[in-house]
Amino acid sequence: MTGVFTVTATDGLARAGVLHTAHGDVPTPAFMPVGTKATVKAVDPDELHALGATIVLGNTYHLHFRPGEDLVEELGGLHAFMGWDGPILTDSGGFQVFSLRDTLLELDDDGATFRSVYDGAPERLTPELAAEIQRRLGSDIAMCLDICRPPGVPRADLAEAVRRTTLWAQRQRDLPRAPGQLRFAITQGALDTELRQRSSEELVPLDFDGYAIGGLSVGEDRGPMFDATTLAASFLPEDKPRYFMGIGDPEGVIEVISRGVDMFDCVLPTRTARTGSALTWEGRLNLRNARFARDPRPLDEQCGCPACTRFSRAYVRHLVNQQEILGLRLLSLHNLRFLIDLVAAARQAIERGELATWRDDALARLRPTNLETQ
Ligand SMILES: [Zn+2]
Repeated sequence: MTGVFTVTATDGLARAGVLHTAHGDVPTPAFMPVGTKATVKAVDPDELHALGATIVLGNTYHLHFRPGEDLVEELGGLHAFMGWDGPILTDSGGFQVFSLRDTLLELDDDGATFRSVYDGAPERLTPELAAEIQRRLGSDIAMCLDICRPPGVPRADLAEAVRRTTLWAQRQRDLPRAPGQLRFAITQGALDTELRQRSSEELVPLDFDGYAIGGLSVGEDRGPMFDATTLAASFLPEDKPRYFMGIGDPEGVIEVISRGVDMFDCVLPTRTARTGSALTWEGRLNLRNARFARDPRPLDEQCGCPACTRFSRAYVRHLVNQQEILGLRLLSLHNLRFLIDLVAAARQAIERGELATWRDDALARLRPTNLETQ
């Protein structure tokens, strides 16, 4: 029997590989577009396939409340419900419970009580419920419930988060799964070397199908965050996929890939699109800027997306300024394609053994001197 994950090439700390799931293989490194409410905003599944997306992410928290896992299960599971036949990863719901401001009511060893953002009603999430929701949604990869703390909390709080995250992973590990469903644990510990090591040493022996590096990209400085990524990855098994939760800017993606990360997700490409901005090799372009009013060039000269093959910056700018739906759709398609292509290029560079050169060149082109702030 083949394993869940095959490493096909390494270059420095970086790896290229293939993640095997019940709904198909995912070449890694892989960017996972986020389909929070069972839709990658404004992009349909055929378009996702055409853009080169191989796996998408769904949010347990939001799907639990709207429309509810009962309804999704009744309609054939999340794949059938949203019309996407490729792999799906679902998060545990924990990130929303711990990050949505002022909604956490109580936290103990059993679980967390919080106010739903939908109607304010008190709700409770436990490892058992997180597993059950994801089983009924039928995702290919289910995540363990973890506790992610904001930057700057006292070390004792971080240590407590690590302890409970392990406790919950132990409970969630052997609970019922959807057919073929993989289960990943999440390591915590923020920027603290000893806690990151402790978290991994407690979770790795439990032999999960993969491991996430959690608790980073939550507002801390980037230098220390990348150092912590290198450290966290070094504590994880080489033969299991590593998932960095919540990074999706071009520079950040390149940095975590070069540190041994295999998978990552972020709303950045689609959220940036909805603010009228395009990710390009010239940096981020804010299409509202007057300098694009008569610009006949595509968003990015090298991009093969539906926006870049047919439309000018001037036209996209016009759509954005007139708040036409097509404008945000074209920018969403472009930004997703840009990131997916970037990650594919990184994968090829790893296969050629030239990641360091490719990375330096790519970062130089994307450098903040070129970056137009919004
Ligand atoms: Zn494009």
